[in-house]
Amino acid sequence: MFLVDSHCHLDGLDYQTLHKNVDDVLSKAAARDVGFCLAVATTLDGYVAMREQIGERDNVAFSCGVHPLNQDEELDVERLHSLAAQPGVVAMGETGLDYYYTPETKLRQQSSFSHHIAIGRALNKPVIVHTRDARADTLAILRQEQVMDCGGVLHCFTEDTDTAGKLLDMGFYISFSGIVTFRNAESLREAARYVPLDRILVETDSPYLAPVPHRGKENQPALVRDVAEYMAVLKGVDVETLAEITTNNFSSLFNVDLSALRQDN
Ligand SMILES: [Zn+2]
Ligand SMILES: [Zn+2]
Repeated sequence: MFLVDSHCHLDGLDYQTLHKNVDDVLSKAAARDVGFCLAVATTLDGYVAMREQIGERDNVAFSCGVHPLNQDEELDVERLHSLAAQPGVVAMGETGLDYYYTPETKLRQQSSFSHHIAIGRALNKPVIVHTRDARADTLAILRQEQVMDCGGVLHCFTEDTDTAGKLLDMGFYISFSGIVTFRNAESLREAARYVPLDRILVETDSPYLAPVPHRGKENQPALVRDVAEYMAVLKGVDVETLAEITTNNFSSLFNVDLSALRQDN
């Protein structure tokens, strides 16, 4: 079995007490059949530092972008474009809108989001979208900016079935995190049952949102296995099938060739 953690903040894990280093995290992941990670950036400086920390590896790819909660200053569009063009960057983001925590930066978030999509289209790299309390505007901007040209994923999905349907119509993938395992997440499970297998990705969003039975502890890529096992039950397939399909989905969305890695596995 070969699983991918399609969204983690590898630079944000606890390297003081829980993990020796990045190798340690990746070997814990591999021990649970998690053979590849997408390390997601949240600021441009953070992207540069994260690449330095992680280094070049055949089992990690990167995204480049500015998180909607990190809008203290105006986006440096030129810098985003040139960093995102670097080899090893397979996606833009995470970008999107978060009106829950920072409604005061709405306008700046919207402009940043639009720039990420425009650059994604120019570079032919899909966008990783975060949305919270901003469903209508998120859908409107995705449409306006013609995201269909580069594609993307709504990460850590917590919206309803109707929103999932609209995203699927735009060719989007939907990524499920440990939230789907939470006791009170019944409407999310309904959405997960609704989204077809060939559009599903799984992620940890580590170090946040550890799935049950690890809830409350630090999350890490190894635990995407728990998300996958849970999703397999929801979808009525075995976990090997869910792994096979979500890994194929990841490869086709982000244009990452995993065949060599999958062979040794
Ligand atoms: Zn997010
Ligand atoms: Zn994230």
